Amino acid sequence: MNPLFRDLPTTIFEHMSGLAREHGAVNLGQGFPDFGWPDDVIDAAARALAHGSNQYPPMRGTHELREAICDHYRRHQALDLAVDQVTVTSGATEALAASLLALIEPGDEVLIIEPAYDAYLPMVRRAGGVPRRVSLRPPDWRITPELIAQGFTDRTRLVLFNNPHNPLTRAFDREELTLLAEACVRHGAVAVSDEVWEHVVFDSRAHTPLSSLPGMAERTVKVGSAGKIFSMTGWKVGWTIACESLTRAVANAHQFLTFTTPPNLQAGVAFGLRKTDDYFGGMRAEFASARDYLVGGLRAAGYAPMPVEGTYFVCVDLRESGLDVDDVTFCEHAVREAGVAAIPISSFYAGDPVRHVLRLCFAKKRETIDAGIERLAKARMAFVR
Ligand code: PMP
Ligand code: GLN
Repeated sequence: MNPLFRDLPTTIFEHMSGLAREHGAVNLGQGFPDFGWPDDVIDAAARALAHGSNQYPPMRGTHELREAICDHYRRHQALDLAVDQVTVTSGATEALAASLLALIEPGDEVLIIEPAYDAYLPMVRRAGGVPRRVSLRPPDWRITPELIAQGFTDRTRLVLFNNPHNPLTRAFDREELTLLAEACVRHGAVAVSDEVWEHVVFDSRAHTPLSSLPGMAERTVKVGSAGKIFSMTGWKVGWTIACESLTRAVANAHQFLTFTTPPNLQAGVAFGLRKTDDYFGGMRAEFASARDYLVGGLRAAGYAPMPVEGTYFVCVDLRESGLDVDDVTFCEHAVREAGVAAIPISSFYAGDPVRHVLRLCFAKKRETIDAGIERLAKARMAFVR
């Protein structure tokens, strides 16, 4: 540790992907697909790279992309948006950072629902926020009136929410969203609603944006990402959607983080968001089929997978799988000794973690999943009760 500064730990995703590279392991940890991206979106970006502008686009994003985002949400989520409500950012990660830097003052209380995506807590702290953590609990992992009562106080300024949920894979239902929305209105809190998985939902589910609930349009910053919609996680094109005053605040924070996002990638995403329903339905069907394939293989290998409502992930309950081991020990053993990487759920808590669940990514070709299952079958041998 260098005494001159306070360092943040390396993320669990980087840690596990690093170990996977080092040990030649099958990587079912970090969430990135090895199939399924649309070539025509890449072609649109390539055309823009060769023939379009390679200079600074407007700070809030190209008009073309912001208009495509408005049309997209009108079509898919019945949101009535104007271009002035959109800010294009370099990934959802930057959208979250800009929102937090814009909307909290040092000392403001920020509600975080655990398990929480790894970036939330460190970003809230670096923005000067005081995190107030509440936990979703097994086996249902539901937002309940008790959780809301525990989480909100007179000082709650902002709620950092994620739906569909990574790592739990839940798509919260209307009853749960209503509990949250009513509490935000009652307490005068702003919601930053990370909806990057909005298109990756299964079994005929439709995504409900938090901003569509009564009283929420003027107090929600909705965060989206092309990385998840088009299975291209390296693209890092994200955005925020909010009322004009919240948008101004977020955009003015974004201007000092990255200022803009590559214009050619914006052109590709603008093209992609206008794709027909066939693409979105086909993408969901392909991932649902990969989900079923991994879930089937896990069951056959003696594991107990949890239900998957959305995202690229399936969680596995180690206890229900007859294994006497905590998630971190299992994952370290699996990647080093059995050649397969997974993510321990306990890394998404700042305290009092659930330690018997791990997360696996199914956005992979059949042969990758087969190899992962074979190695997971080997990994469990060390811990069978
Ligand atoms: N939020 C959640 C819940 C995510 O799962 C991810 C990426 N997996 C992000 C934000 C970051 O998205 P981006 O890559 O667009 O920065
Ligand atoms: N969001 C990806 C996941 O959940 C990882 C992103 C990252 O590595 N920062 O696996």
